[in-house]
Amino acid sequence: MSFNDKVVIVTGSSSGIGAAIAIEFSALGAHVCLVGRNKEKLDEVGRKCNNPLVLVADVTQDKDAQRIVNETVRYFGKLDILINNAGMGGAASITAENAMAVYDKLMSTNLRSVVYLTHLAAPHIIKTKGNIINISSVCALRILLKDSFAYNTSKAGLDHFTRSVAAELASDGVRVNAVNPGPVLTDIVQNSGFSDAQQKAVFENMKKGTALNRISEPSEIADLVTFLASDKARAITGSIYVSDNGTLIKAA
Ligand code: NDP
Repeated sequence: MSFNDKVVIVTGSSSGIGAAIAIEFSALGAHVCLVGRNKEKLDEVGRKCNNPLVLVADVTQDKDAQRIVNETVRYFGKLDILINNAGMGGAASITAENAMAVYDKLMSTNLRSVVYLTHLAAPHIIKTKGNIINISSVCALRILLKDSFAYNTSKAGLDHFTRSVAAELASDGVRVNAVNPGPVLTDIVQNSGFSDAQQKAVFENMKKGTALNRISEPSEIADLVTFLASDKARAITGSIYVSDNGTLIKAA
């Protein structure tokens, strides 16, 4: 598989799954644009990529989203692939006082930013007949975590957005798919404002909830993403790809 001369934006590539995706695309010959808010972490990932464009940007800010797409096209001359990976978790029950604050934050980060970036990127991706991959979650498909209505709703919306835009862009030769991971060993829980102990507890519980009794490494998701972005997946659009160590098939 080669992505020689392909230009790829990976949002949320300063850590975890996004970092693994960016590093794998770069190793396969792509020009990558790394996006995140933490410059230090982005630079660390950048050192593992070949001449990346590194953009410190917040995907929830419209001006930053415009900069991500415009600077990538200006720097590399085109855009082939958009990986909407930036995301966060957060807990609140529907009756909690902070329910709407958590909902607004997660919808803004996990869904609205994807909609706007896709809106901005689509004209460029139509020109190159490229594709878009959204990193969703197995939580879009089943309730797995306590007090998770906001996260679940953001990811379920992302899945249907994926199908809707796939239907719209198919006649332009552009494919749009989602990858829905189960537990993947990253710092997502800590990065979403919880303690190290809470992170360990969440992953321990999620591991018990898998049929294969394991947690994925970020590179396992990167392998699936690069396959879907490649010409080997030319027949695949509007699909939701679960990689969850058998979470959805685990008997109660
Ligand atoms: P991490 O916390 O390691 O990575 C999240 C990334 O998103 C970071 O690079 C962070 O960068 C970036 N990010 C968050 N908010 C913003 C923002 N407003 N603007 C720009 N970048 C942002 O978590 P994961 O790698 O685990 O998560 C990646 C994706 O995978 C998410 O969408 C998550 O929902 C999904 N996922 C993860 C699972 C898991 O078990 N780990 C399971 C299912 C889905 P920075 O802080 O520098 O801004």
